[in-house]
Amino acid sequence: MRILETTVASPTTIEEAWTMWKSYDEAITFIAGGTFLQTKWEKGAAVPSKMLHLGGISEYKQIYMDTESQIHIGSFVKLAECKNHPLIIKKLPQLSQTIEKIAAPAVRNLGTIGGNIANQVGDTIPLLLALDAEILYLNKDGKQRIDLQDWSKMTEDSIILEVIIPFDNRESYLFTKKIGRREAFSTSVVTLAGKLTIKENQLCNVRIAAGGGETQPMRLRNVESILKHAPIVDSNILKKVYQTVMTEYQPVEDAFYSSNYRLKVASNLLISELEKWSGEYGGLYK
Ligand SMILES: Cc1cc2nc3c(=O)[nH]c(=O)nc-3n(C[C@H](O)[C@H](O)[C@H](O)COP(=O)(O)OP(=O)(O)OC[C@H]3O[C@@H](n4cnc5c(N)ncnc54)[C@H](O)[C@@H]3O)c2cc1C
Repeated sequence: MRILETTVASPTTIEEAWTMWKSYDEAITFIAGGTFLQTKWEKGAAVPSKMLHLGGISEYKQIYMDTESQIHIGSFVKLAECKNHPLIIKKLPQLSQTIEKIAAPAVRNLGTIGGNIANQVGDTIPLLLALDAEILYLNKDGKQRIDLQDWSKMTEDSIILEVIIPFDNRESYLFTKKIGRREAFSTSVVTLAGKLTIKENQLCNVRIAAGGGETQPMRLRNVESILKHAPIVDSNILKKVYQTVMTEYQPVEDAFYSSNYRLKVASNLLISELEKWSGEYGGLYK
């Protein structure tokens, strides 16, 4: 780890953070829990010379449901708090399960949900993509709200303030799976999530997203399209889904796993979830 002289500004409100951010001429690194950045520094990345510590901001630390049944999670909510929050346990247990698989309690007590999303490879992202989550963020144009998938394509810096998840009561099958080297405390080979929404015995909405390791999570739109238009999820469709994941998903390889291995894991994982689902629903006829 290269340690240079670093200055850290610690605002206590968003307004103060914005004023401090504006006052810098050069690029500044945001830091919340610091647990992701720590992994980068341990691998040899230079510690930035200027940081804006967002973890001391008193706002955006709540989780609540608004009158339109949307769940708001403040960016600076710690992973552990999010995992154990009664609203999340009741309405979105899959998010609790996803967080349970991230690192260990000590890391989850420091790391934030905003940091997990902002690092672009966090394990919560596939599930949030499957849930059509939106991001409330702050940049020079003020506060803006945007789909998570569009936020992740933005090149301009912004501070994430909230993740907003539409909660719909329609019958749906929501799943999330992480395959790591061990059952717990392991980086992800593949993290997969999906939401299959059923209306009048038809699949009316399909979301499938995959990520893991250094791969930026992505929606698998071709796979979604096959499932949405399939009259029945049978072995032919599953074969098509498998082949499409193999061509559509583009996992990054690292020292431990090849891209091809990650592809096979993602495809098998999805087929296994779809089989489980179609077993529950007895296949799906339009
Ligand atoms: C031992 C260990 C194991 C880990 N295992 C996992 C794992 O299994 N799965 C996983 O997903 N992660 C894992 N992590 C990474 C990390 O703990 C989580 O991703 C955590 O949620 C990051 O949150 P943070 O607040 O610590 O982010 P930070 O490290 O503070 O920041 C992460 C990135 O996001 C930016 N950022 C932070 N907050 C904001 C914001 N509000 N707006 C805009 N940008 C922001 C920072 O500039 C930085 O680029 C692990 C880390 C460690 C140390």
